[in-house]
Amino acid sequence: MGAALPVAAVMERLPAPVGISRREFLKWCSVVTAALALPPWYVERVAQALSSADRLPVIWFEFQDCAGDTESFLRSSHPTAGEMVLEFIDLVYHETVMAPAGAAAEASLHDALERDRGRYVLVVEGSIPTAEGGVYCTIAGQTALQRLEEAVPGAVAVLAVGTCAAWGGIPAAAPNPTGAVGVRDLVKDKPIVNLPGCSVNSVNLAATIVHLLTFGELPATDDEGRPLFAYGHRIHDTCPRRAHFDGGRFVREWGDEGHRQGWCLYRMGCKGPKALHNCAIVGWNDNTSWPIAAGHPCIACTEPDFWDTSTPFYRWMGESLLPSPARPEREGVPLGVVLGIGGAAAAAGAGAAALVRQRRKRVGSSQGGEAPGRADAPEGSEVPPAEEGA
Ligand code: SF4
Repeated sequence: MGAALPVAAVMERLPAPVGISRREFLKWCSVVTAALALPPWYVERVAQALSSADRLPVIWFEFQDCAGDTESFLRSSHPTAGEMVLEFIDLVYHETVMAPAGAAAEASLHDALERDRGRYVLVVEGSIPTAEGGVYCTIAGQTALQRLEEAVPGAVAVLAVGTCAAWGGIPAAAPNPTGAVGVRDLVKDKPIVNLPGCSVNSVNLAATIVHLLTFGELPATDDEGRPLFAYGHRIHDTCPRRAHFDGGRFVREWGDEGHRQGWCLYRMGCKGPKALHNCAIVGWNDNTSWPIAAGHPCIACTEPDFWDTSTPFYRWMGESLLPSPARPEREGVPLGVVLGIGGAAAAAGAGAAALVRQRRKRVGSSQGGEAPGRADAPEGSEVPPAEEGA
C-alpha cells in the first residue's frame, strides 16, 4: 500500500458510521481505494465522501442468469452486503433478496421508479433474451426487454454485472436459442459500466459505486465499457506464477511436481494471457484465494464469448504465446497507469486503453481471428502435449 496511513488522524475526523465500527469502515475504505488503484492518501477522501453521501438508490434486475452475481454480492466483505445496503446504498428493488413478493414487490419497484427517477443506479444481472419478442424471460408479466425499457430512462447509470449482462455470457453461447444479448447491445443512450466475470467480483462492484459516490462520476473505462482499474491489465501480467511462465517451468500433469510447486498452468489450459481482470490483486472471499492460486487454470470468464472461445478449458493456447528470446512476452499494462480519475488520470487511462487495444489487435491478428492458440492446439485433445516448448 505504500506510505503509512494516518489511521488515527483519519478516524478522529470521521463521523461515526452507523452499523460499522470505525476501524472496519476505514479498513473497507482502504480495500476499495486500493482496488480503484488510487494512492493511499485517497482513503480519507473516500471515507469522508461515504460518510456524508446520501444513500444511493439501486434497482437490481435479474434476468437470464444463475444468480451468481447476487451470490457474490451477498458474500461480499469489507463490508458485508448487509452493511453495504444499510450504509451506502438503498437497495430499493432486487427480486431475489427483497422481503416483499408478488404485487407488493412490484409496487416497491414502481414507487422507486417514480420517487427516485434521475437518481437511481440500475444494476442488471443476466443476459436479455430477444428471440420471440423476449418471451424466454418474464417477470410479473413483463419481458426482460420491457423491464429495461421501463427502468433505463430514469437511471443515472447502468451497471451490467457479470459476464451474462455484459456480453450475453453462457445463455448467448452457440447456438444461442433465446437470442441472448448483453445490456450494451440494447441500451445506447445511458452511461453503462460493464463488470464482467463469472461471477462479478463484489470488490469491483463496490469500488465502482464508491467511485460514483466519491467523485460524482463513473470510473474510466476501456472501449468495451470495462473500468480500467479492474480490467486494465491481463491476469497474466499480475499472476504470481508469471516467473515460472517466463522461466519455462510448466505444470504438465495434474498433481505432478510442478503442480505441487505452484508452476505455471499455461500448458494445462490457462487462459490468463487473454483475460483482462484484477483477480490476482483483489482475490475472492476476502482475498483468501482465486482460481490460479488454488491450482486451476484461468478460463477467461471475463472475456466476450468466453464459453465459445475458451472451451475446452483444459486445452492449451499453443506454442505461439510461449516466451522465447526472439519473442519477449512482457507486454502488460503497468499497474501504475490503470487508474482513471477525471482529468488527472485521463492520459493514463487513455494509455491503458490504447495498450489494451494493441493487445487485442496482436492476439487477434496472430490467431487469424480465432481464439488465441486454438489453431496450434492438438486437435481433439484436452491434455497439453508433453514435449518441452519453452
Ligand atoms: Fe499465470 Fe496462467 Fe499466465 Fe501461467 S499462463 S503465468 S498460470 S496467468
